[in-house]
Amino acid sequence: MYAMRLHSPRTPLQWEELPDPTPGPGQIRVKVLACGVCRTDLHVVDGDLTHPKLPVTPGHEIIGRVDMLGSGVTSLQVGQRVGIPWLGHTCGHCPYCVSDHENLCDHPVFTGYTRDGGYATMAVADAHFAFPMGEEGSDVSLAPLLCAGLIGWRSLSKTGNAQKVGLYGFGAAAHIIAQVLVWQKREVYAFTRSGDTKTQDFARSLGAKWAGGSNDLPPEPLDAAIIFAPDGALVPAALKTLRKGGRVVCAGIHMSEIPAFSYDSLWEEREIVSVANLTREDGLDFLSLAPRIGIHTTTTTYALKDANTALDDLRHGRFDGAAVLVP
Ligand SMILES: [Zn+2]
Ligand SMILES: [Zn+2]
Repeated sequence: MYAMRLHSPRTPLQWEELPDPTPGPGQIRVKVLACGVCRTDLHVVDGDLTHPKLPVTPGHEIIGRVDMLGSGVTSLQVGQRVGIPWLGHTCGHCPYCVSDHENLCDHPVFTGYTRDGGYATMAVADAHFAFPMGEEGSDVSLAPLLCAGLIGWRSLSKTGNAQKVGLYGFGAAAHIIAQVLVWQKREVYAFTRSGDTKTQDFARSLGAKWAGGSNDLPPEPLDAAIIFAPDGALVPAALKTLRKGGRVVCAGIHMSEIPAFSYDSLWEEREIVSVANLTREDGLDFLSLAPRIGIHTTTTTYALKDANTALDDLRHGRFDGAAVLVP
């Protein structure tokens, strides 16, 4: 097999040939068909996330086809198309696992961070953490659903029944969640880097009621805002857009420092919450709903060998929607 691997943070990924992996008990091996490029991969490569296994193969938005079963696997079959997300394994017995919060497991394994991921021609995963993907939809169009979609979905669930929802950072996750919100007949307010009229137009094309810069105030107070961009300064900016009792949801795994802000911005029962990882139930819920909504992902594809270029283009916002690697 071949993989693009990180040997130490802040160095380019390297193209390597490795022995084909053998799935352990309860695991599957897949031939990777496509793998999305997530901002979390950038945080791994940049060293913002400080506990990767090294070397590591990044990538946790994997669409693959099962080509070998480990012992005891009965839930999946050879030849089946599956999706492999960030949450690769949980312990099953910590206080979080036994209380339906497996996303907070004390002893998790994360795909493309603490286990090799999908920037590769082959990958291994726990059968119970892989999602059957059916045969509807192309491999490339489905890949971004595995994290941008799932984490976006979990973030959206934290907004409760908010009607007017702000999305800060209109990248892969926001472009999917905007379509969910429109389908649910809720209103999307898209916030981009100031002056980024191209992305604002993209947001409007997906049904955003309003689009503007991240320091602009929307025409009406919002019920909730989800922050997908890793910029801590957006937290006080988003708080200022909220009505009383409104909520800011921080969707990212990493964010720059949040600047000091006046208590007035938080008072009147406004809230700030974060979202960590996903549960398998989030995945099953979202992936069963996605085809009914008819989510259309906007993607830019790169050859697996060009993963460094894809990461760099993501860093600089050079494409709309999501980047996807194809081996
Ligand atoms: Zn656990
Ligand atoms: Zn991700």
